Amino acid sequence: MQTMLTQQSEIENNNTFAFQQAVVIGSGIAGLTMARVLADYVAKVTIIERDHRPAEEGIQDRTGVPQAHHPHNLQPQGQQILERLFPGMTEELVAARAVRLGEPDDVAFHFEGSWHTAPTNGRHAAVSCSRSLLEQTIYQRICTHPRIEILHGYEVAGLYAQKDGHRVGGVSLRPRTGAAGGQMMLDGDLVVDASGRRSRAPQWLTELGFQPPEEWHIDALVGYASRLYKRPDNFDQDWQMLYIRPTPPDGTRGGIIVPMEDNQWHVALIGVAGDYPPTNEADFLTFARSLPVPHLYETIKNAEPLSRIHGFRRADNRLRRYDRLPRTLEGFLVSGDAVYALNPLYAQGMTLALLACQALGNVLAKHPGRTNDDVAGLAQAFQKRLSKMTESHWRLATQTDWQWDATSVDDNTETLLA
Ligand SMILES: Cc1cc2nc3c(=O)[nH]c(=O)nc-3n(C[C@H](O)[C@H](O)[C@H](O)COP(=O)(O)OP(=O)(O)OC[C@H]3O[C@@H](n4cnc5c(N)ncnc54)[C@H](O)[C@@H]3O)c2cc1C
Repeated sequence: MQTMLTQQSEIENNNTFAFQQAVVIGSGIAGLTMARVLADYVAKVTIIERDHRPAEEGIQDRTGVPQAHHPHNLQPQGQQILERLFPGMTEELVAARAVRLGEPDDVAFHFEGSWHTAPTNGRHAAVSCSRSLLEQTIYQRICTHPRIEILHGYEVAGLYAQKDGHRVGGVSLRPRTGAAGGQMMLDGDLVVDASGRRSRAPQWLTELGFQPPEEWHIDALVGYASRLYKRPDNFDQDWQMLYIRPTPPDGTRGGIIVPMEDNQWHVALIGVAGDYPPTNEADFLTFARSLPVPHLYETIKNAEPLSRIHGFRRADNRLRRYDRLPRTLEGFLVSGDAVYALNPLYAQGMTLALLACQALGNVLAKHPGRTNDDVAGLAQAFQKRLSKMTESHWRLATQTDWQWDATSVDDNTETLLA
């Protein structure tokens, strides 16, 4: 290690806060929003993000979040938590030309052979936009927070423990191409892993002599093929968002049209049980025409495409049971897709990341050590609370996926579910 990036002495010692420094790994939806909650309890929060962010402001799809090329719909529950964390966020998104979905008719939802009313947000309108606009809007709020900093272009390579071996001490990080310096260390009283589906936290824990979490894995062999379209000026349907969800055990095809900023539609074709949608021009509309109802095909067949077609196939359900670890690295928390990566068919990922913020807020507010810098029990309390709050979401995804014959479950998960 060449440099100690941040010494405790460099941090403004503020007696109002029990914890001096927190590190958050990843600046996706989970990382940004967890940082916001931590900043109420910690003097300084540093987010480490391996992607560079372009110098000019703007909505960019980053390489670290390939799922941003696919439609994202934030559930009403997630929208409400977001609004509580960042008051005024809903109106800010609408001002950035996101689409308000306030009425039940705004969403046409087809599954199990009939049309259904989608849940709405009661008096709070849900808004629909690209994942990139949502992340960028949260990011801009975080950038103005006086106790949060973001370090771009650095990748976390591992964790280190304090001398007692029980409590997290911080993270080691290395610059990616273009960032300055060699391998470095960054201290943290609390470290949150929000590095997404490909989180390496299980390996990091193993390297420190801790047992990695049990991993449950259920794969309905889901694929997405998505592209942007211009919403035609003469579009005259009642709905703004259309979702045709594949119905097990025989229905393997579906699709979604999500309205987004700038009068665009994000359209995805969805295939389950290995019936992956095509990513070539010639077959895209043919697949769209084969869906159980014609609405999506009829809507896009003459619309103007604005992007190439992007494919995605790593969309299995994977749950890491950090709530069941026999021994916890004190002060080390895991959130977002790094814990729960669900089949996107059920549009729950971002809402789970926001539920984790609610869990963290609850746990920090009640934690006895919050006045004396004692993290003992905090990580376990958080993971258990998160597990309780998100159990029904995991069940919804996996019990439906289970009904396709092609769904695979690894031996470990099958034993645990039995
Ligand atoms: C096709 C598809 C469609 C989806 N549709 C929906 C939807 O409609 N609604 C919904 O709620 N969810 C949806 N999701 C799920 C949603 O994208 C995720 O749940 C959500 O983005 C998770 O956010 P996250 O912050 O946990 O992880 P990510 O968004 O993956 O962010 C992780 C961040 O960590 C960074 N990172 C990774 N490793 C390191 C490291 N070692 N050091 C530093 N930085 C690191 C990455 O660059 C990235 O910025 C969909 C997912 C897919 C794949």
